Amino acid sequence: MTNKVLNDFLEPQLQALRDQGLYNTIDTVEGPNGAKIKVNGAELINLSSNNYLGFSNDDRLKKKCIEATEQYGVGAGAVRTINGTMTIHNELETRLAEFKHTEAAIAFQSGFNCNMGAISAVMTKKDAIISDELNHASIIDGCRLSGAKVLRAKHQDMDDLRRVAKEATESGLYEKIMYITDGVFSMDGDVAKIPEIVAIAEEFGLITYVDDAHGSGVMGKGAGTVKHFGMSDKIDFQMGTLSKAIGVVGGYVAGSQQLIDWLKVRARPFLFSTSLTPGAAAACIEAIDIMESDPERMEKLWENGTYLKAGLAKLGFDIGHSETPITPCIIGDENLTQQFSRRLLEEGVYAKSIVFPTVPKGTGRVRNMPTAAHTREMLDEVLATYEKVGKELKVI
Ligand SMILES: *Cc1c(COP(=O)(O)O)cnc(C)c1O
Repeated sequence: MTNKVLNDFLEPQLQALRDQGLYNTIDTVEGPNGAKIKVNGAELINLSSNNYLGFSNDDRLKKKCIEATEQYGVGAGAVRTINGTMTIHNELETRLAEFKHTEAAIAFQSGFNCNMGAISAVMTKKDAIISDELNHASIIDGCRLSGAKVLRAKHQDMDDLRRVAKEATESGLYEKIMYITDGVFSMDGDVAKIPEIVAIAEEFGLITYVDDAHGSGVMGKGAGTVKHFGMSDKIDFQMGTLSKAIGVVGGYVAGSQQLIDWLKVRARPFLFSTSLTPGAAAACIEAIDIMESDPERMEKLWENGTYLKAGLAKLGFDIGHSETPITPCIIGDENLTQQFSRRLLEEGVYAKSIVFPTVPKGTGRVRNMPTAAHTREMLDEVLATYEKVGKELKVI
């Protein structure tokens, strides 16, 4: 069946993307996500996941997932507000709150819809949200959905944040003002300046929201960037995902009991969308238990990040200013970056190129995401491959 109106919209746009080389074809991964993955029959060293601790294919998590599936079934059956909350979901939220050192927590089906739901449950068109210019797409969309006036602040520039906060406060136009930021920025691996943010927020009475998708399981012994700075009681919303270091799927907000009570009656993805599967909830609980009892995985993650960074820098690559295991290798030119990533792939290393508009023009990079599951041998192989391709393409 063809719908002319729809086709007239789709065809030229798809063609334009293909012509510009911007149409993204998605690789098929034949098996689990891990330090190695299989794509088109080839075994590749995987430096593209967010599976920081290797949990997504961990036997202990799989076992808990299967047990909970036996006990509760494959699906929750209905939204929680209508058909009740399963014990396993309550248990997950209790564990999350303990882990994040907050009074309470609420779990969502994904980090993306958590941001959509949580921001718009609190902020309205009478409010303003100051947003770091490099915040994640789900924050941008959540802010838009809320109807609040969005005020951009320069990336990690505390003088600019202070200026915007001052202007917004003095304008008298807004009932509430929120500052929202990623905890760890995934493109550069830099960390939000939580103590300075808290000081500015206190001065101007800002609500604070930290999206710690890339900090949870990585910073603060797993508990995240806010905990890393010892400021768990100073940030109003500690948002995180269960899909990255935790290895499963889902999102959450940890905060005061009152905030969580409010989100449970006003956050629309919580109210109108079925909760996480019981198996996913159980696997997440197991991941938290392991992080608490076995800090070695996090140490290994950092060790691997440090090793890869030092190796690339020694070869003469520009690795930017990451403060976390995230290791960008900045090539610059967009085409060269894409060519570099393609050559790595042909040589057995799966590390994706990230170019404009995801990052500023001229700062194209291959982004490497080492995990706790990578061995020293794998990283040495990666470094040898970078050296080969780097010389071949005259990047080093
Ligand atoms: C990945 C990511 C999300 C979305 O998380 P999902 O659980 O994958 O939906 C939200 N915010 C940031 C900063 C992210 O990096």
